Amino acid sequence: MKLYNTLTQKKEEFVPIEPGKVRMYSCGPTVYNYFHIGNARPFIVFDVLRRFLEYTGYDVTFVQNFTDVDDKIINRSHEEGISAKAVADKYIAEYFKDADALGIHRASVHPRVSDTIPEIITMVKTLEDKGLAYNVDGNVYYQVENFPQYGKLSGQNIDDLEAGARIDVNDEKRSPLDFALWKKAKPGEPFWESPWGKGRPGWHIECSAMSRKFLGETIDIHGGGQDLIFPHHENEIAQSEGSCGCPFAHYWVHNGYININNEKMSKSKGNFFTVRDIAKHYDLEVVRMFMLMAHYRSPVNFSDALLGQAQNALERLYNAKYQMEYLIDHTATTDPSPQESAWLQDLPKFKDQFITAMNDDLNTADGISAIFELVRSANSFLNDASSKVCVQTTLDLFNELTGVIGLAQKEKQDDLAAEVEALIQKRLEARKAKDFKLADAIRDDLLNRGIILEDTREGVKWKKA
Ligand SMILES: [Zn+2]
Repeated sequence: MKLYNTLTQKKEEFVPIEPGKVRMYSCGPTVYNYFHIGNARPFIVFDVLRRFLEYTGYDVTFVQNFTDVDDKIINRSHEEGISAKAVADKYIAEYFKDADALGIHRASVHPRVSDTIPEIITMVKTLEDKGLAYNVDGNVYYQVENFPQYGKLSGQNIDDLEAGARIDVNDEKRSPLDFALWKKAKPGEPFWESPWGKGRPGWHIECSAMSRKFLGETIDIHGGGQDLIFPHHENEIAQSEGSCGCPFAHYWVHNGYININNEKMSKSKGNFFTVRDIAKHYDLEVVRMFMLMAHYRSPVNFSDALLGQAQNALERLYNAKYQMEYLIDHTATTDPSPQESAWLQDLPKFKDQFITAMNDDLNTADGISAIFELVRSANSFLNDASSKVCVQTTLDLFNELTGVIGLAQKEKQDDLAAEVEALIQKRLEARKAKDFKLADAIRDDLLNRGIILEDTREGVKWKKA
């Protein structure tokens, strides 16, 4: 597989450190609110990268953190009058609800900053001992000029960065590029004991410490949004490589930006959407389809019109899947005809096309096109007279490929069951409201359609007459 590596600015052949194994880290959310549509993109992209690597036989360990110690969380805890931990717990639970609806698998580990404090302190201490960090009255800063490779990921050098940096006269830092590793506790904030006094970690150090804790000193892939390249990922490299003297990540993979109706997303423009907002209007699987219809490095423009297109595309996938399931249940023919045998021999070309696209820097846009070619071909070739073997083989391939990108995974809802359950619920409510006339009318209506209701101790059960 080839991946575009931000570090070398080239597409490179992916070669893991240990054959058959992939160690992968991606920056997760700060859990002070529902996550927004811009955050959703890296979560979906790195979920697909992980699934594809697993599909091609790798054993992947994937770490995605939760930032549960942060100014925004502390502010939210003051606003809501609850502890910072309660804020984080709440939004971690909400993260999983949205992530599940977006079809994002759980990472191998979802570490929290608050559970990684000893490892963070150890790393900051190592940096201090090596002369890469200094303590000013309980605040510890990274001394960027002592790490000469600083700027290598974002393609900048220290002199240019220093020339462009804003200098704050009251700053206790030695250089405006230096960044906080450990912050002295302020009244009312959560804190931990440390060699520098009571305090809490700066933002950047958590990813270096968590990545090392769960994946070791050098990892294969580090992912995140393009907006994190500078300074966050640059700082992660300075911390990780500065403390161990070895490379941090071999491949740096970054997804592109999201615009909303051709404008940059911002709170002040009022075009800032959480995934939860979008879920009011669309099934979130549509959002996943929308994101994956573009290459992960291209900027994408989020609009109702484009979401509508994604919705239509997703419906075409489901229609094909359910149609094949229907044919399997209804066909009388079991063995393939000679014509079908020829068609089945030709089927692997869609899989090859899919894998070729995904191997080329995770080109999900072309990967999805390959699935649609399979669908078009199946729609025109398969019919009531097709054999079970032929339809089943086609459906198996469809499920295999859609499984890699995590689309069209839902089973067909039994419409009758859903309708009957809804009517039973309505009848219960009518009885609670002592509207026995309505309750009886619902029961009679169902009886006319051949559905018998039974009131049991475990609730109302139904069966076909
Ligand atoms: Zn990070």
